[in-house]
Amino acid sequence: MVLTAVVGLSGCTPAPTRSSTTSAQTSTLPNAGMKPAPRQKAATAFTSVVTPGIRVTGSVDRDELSSVLDAARAARSWVERTWPRQTAEAGEVKIQVASNPAQFAQLRGGAPTSPDVVASTTPTGLIVLSRQALGMLNVQGRRVILAHEITHVVLQQTKRAGLPHWVVEGSAEFTAYRFAGVSLAESIPLLTAVVRAGNTPSAPPGNGSFSTNSSQSAYQQAHGYTAFLVDRYGMSAWRQFVVATDNGSETAFADFFSGASVETLRVAYTAFLRSRIG
Ligand SMILES: [Zn+2]
Repeated sequence: MVLTAVVGLSGCTPAPTRSSTTSAQTSTLPNAGMKPAPRQKAATAFTSVVTPGIRVTGSVDRDELSSVLDAARAARSWVERTWPRQTAEAGEVKIQVASNPAQFAQLRGGAPTSPDVVASTTPTGLIVLSRQALGMLNVQGRRVILAHEITHVVLQQTKRAGLPHWVVEGSAEFTAYRFAGVSLAESIPLLTAVVRAGNTPSAPPGNGSFSTNSSQSAYQQAHGYTAFLVDRYGMSAWRQFVVATDNGSETAFADFFSGASVETLRVAYTAFLRSRIG
């Protein structure tokens, strides 16, 4: 089933901090935005495939790159439907397919990785994909993963440090699943199980939850809280909240959600989860 693959591998780890944007990334690896020089091409056989708005680069088979490009085209269109202005302003989305785990780690700036991390967006806005992990996903799973990362890119969320993770990851998950054709319960199975077991959360996950072994649960909790906010306050208010938060506002929650706070919404959030996925 679509979601088994998607859920097991969905999301990305929080982006490395700006300081970890290694010079190695730009000095020893090909720039995804540039055509490789002939000398480099001979040495590394990096190839790019391009469609308007997307460039996919990697030292893997061209058919494999084209397959990623097809998924990215669909994913970008999903993101565009939620974030039209930001997607237009972002220009060409650059994606690099890492051919092995070592290259994946290197492209991610040396950030810690694990077998269940499929994709990541660097602080410079380059989307890095793990070839091995991608191979475990079906078409829909690839689209969701790519839409998640493309959301980070068009909202420039990895270029700023210190943002609340639940807003960043919740916005990416919500955007990625919005047009994926699955229900909320199907897209957040871990949270659904928790709610059905009677342990319904009443607030979004804290930043620390995203760096633990149960980070998948944190992503799903962020997704669930985002769905709650959209349901309660509407798409327009939620989009404005995300943009303001991404720009560093610390009052955006009250500003766009009628003066509310996470504290004052505890009962309402629990009720939402019970009614929608309980
Ligand atoms: Zn993410």
